[in-house]
Amino acid sequence: MRVSRLMLVTLRDVPAEAEIKSHQLLLRGGFIRRVGSGIYAYLPMMWKVLQRITTIIREEMNRAGALETLLPQLHPSELWQRSGRWQGYTAGEGIMFHLEDRQGRELGLGPTHEEVITSLAGELLRSYRQLPVNLYQVQTKFRDEIRPRFGLMRGREFIMKDAYSFHADEADLQATYAVMDRAYKRIFERCGLKAVPVDADSGAIGGAASQEFMVTAEAGEDLLLISDDGAYAANQEKAVSLPDEVTPLSPASLSCLETPGQTSIDSLCSAQGWQPGQLLKVLLLLAVLEDGQQQPVLVSLRGDQDLNEVKLVNALSRHLEQGVLDCRPITADDLQRQGVTGIPFGYIGPDLADAVLSAASSWTKTFLRLTDTTAAALDQFHCGANVMDQHRSHCSWNELGGVPEDKDLRKARAGERCVHNPDARLQEKRGIEVGHIFQLGRKYSQALDSCFTNENGRDEPFWMGCYGIGVSRLAQAAVEQHHDDAGIRWPAAIAPYEAIVVIANIQDQGQTDLGESVYTTLQQAGIDVLLDDRKERAGVKFKDADLIGIPWRVVIGREAAEGSVELVQRSNREMRKLPHGEAIDELIKALRP
Ligand code: ATP
Ligand code: MG
Repeated sequence: MRVSRLMLVTLRDVPAEAEIKSHQLLLRGGFIRRVGSGIYAYLPMMWKVLQRITTIIREEMNRAGALETLLPQLHPSELWQRSGRWQGYTAGEGIMFHLEDRQGRELGLGPTHEEVITSLAGELLRSYRQLPVNLYQVQTKFRDEIRPRFGLMRGREFIMKDAYSFHADEADLQATYAVMDRAYKRIFERCGLKAVPVDADSGAIGGAASQEFMVTAEAGEDLLLISDDGAYAANQEKAVSLPDEVTPLSPASLSCLETPGQTSIDSLCSAQGWQPGQLLKVLLLLAVLEDGQQQPVLVSLRGDQDLNEVKLVNALSRHLEQGVLDCRPITADDLQRQGVTGIPFGYIGPDLADAVLSAASSWTKTFLRLTDTTAAALDQFHCGANVMDQHRSHCSWNELGGVPEDKDLRKARAGERCVHNPDARLQEKRGIEVGHIFQLGRKYSQALDSCFTNENGRDEPFWMGCYGIGVSRLAQAAVEQHHDDAGIRWPAAIAPYEAIVVIANIQDQGQTDLGESVYTTLQQAGIDVLLDDRKERAGVKFKDADLIGIPWRVVIGREAAEGSVELVQRSNREMRKLPHGEAIDELIKALRP
């Protein structure tokens, strides 16, 4: 391809809309253009990158025995109503775009395909003899993200590879899950990406394994905790640790203290000489449940710990046996709207009486009380007295009527000791989630009544797995991992072109002739090569070549007259002057080993 025909529009300045390096470089290099919030056009070079990634994914999915299919993007609402997800995905902060057709029927634009595929499987896979089956597609997904940002990282329209497997039993699901795990490792490796597998939250279903593949990068939205012995890695949403020890209180009897203005852990500790870990902090939250109930929740944590919202939502939905759509702190505004008064913010204890909720207009009138395990383990602690300006010191759970249900609800943090090996410590890294594999179990097949006939002739819901890769996010993550000050350094396997021949001065007939000849020879050898034949200064062409990140560059300059060229590798900027024939041989050897 000739650069003069490439519609190459590069930008010298960093576009104001782009915060992170990969987003800036993709815009500057003419790979993508923003069309609307979270909506991007993939320009021709980007489309080539995406197709090369997709080819690698297809090869590995096919090798793993999966079948490619293509499912509709318009989803009738009834399907999502049957799985119970329509409400949660469309109301409030739901992320599904939805619309009404001319007959007034509701439809959603597919954010994911469990509903569609599970109902199809129920119709097509009747017998255990047809199992297992693993179906995948590469397709545009739509999600009305609350905060679309960072270009392709979090779009509202993006390309995903999603796969769904169907099994007669759990052991078979686990076997395919392991095959997918290996396939994913190969995919990311072949794409030239370092992706770390981490334990991931598997939602409220419980038990089922789930793993995310993370490209580590400063700009990553996820916080990862990785043990320094390398044996454990988890998303913070899921991570566990051994808690830091606290100095136990020397036993004393319960007493009440005046603590005016001491509403925070810090102010209490400095005024009273206490340690944060010797205090309880009690959080007041509101959970919105799938059935519409609004449930006030009191969570007690040790004062030196932070709440992990994901663990809390999982604990709540398991406790209540239904989905939790939202769980957030209760504000003064909420209380006013409900007509609830007399909550002593800053002085709440775990035993705050349900009576304070009696006036609530639409909330459940009893608290659901949960305690983090580290708080439950304290023999004595200080806590609020449920009266303004008062705390209790040397309280025990017995004196409060017993420990409310205790669960692991705290955030694991960097520096803490690991559960698998107390000598190892957790370290913090940021990551970009490029893939997610998941043992779904029977959640969707049960909800959609999607069954096969087992060996004993009885109907049974399928065991299912699902496996996603963010194709467009992966492409940008590759840039985040591989760039320098001058531009992108595409890994050769996914670069838009493998090599670029730059004619320094096209007025020079000798340079043009040699450039054309090298270009033709490389094309004939099957190399996907660019020829920069533009009437631009050499400096401009070199800058553009650096920016768009083509792995190999052949520069045809002054020494063309002697048949010499420069061969430059983009990744390490290594430059060699070689006779053109030798340069071509070297290049072919590097690209087709
Ligand atoms: P996230 O936690 O980042 O919102 P998710 O867990 O909702 O992602 P999945 O439903 O697991 O995402 O989707 C599979 C893959 O699709 C993700 O691993 C990610 O790589 C990609 N992906 C998800 N949402 C987006 C998005 N808005 N834009 C681009 N890629 C996305
Ligand atoms: Mg995910």
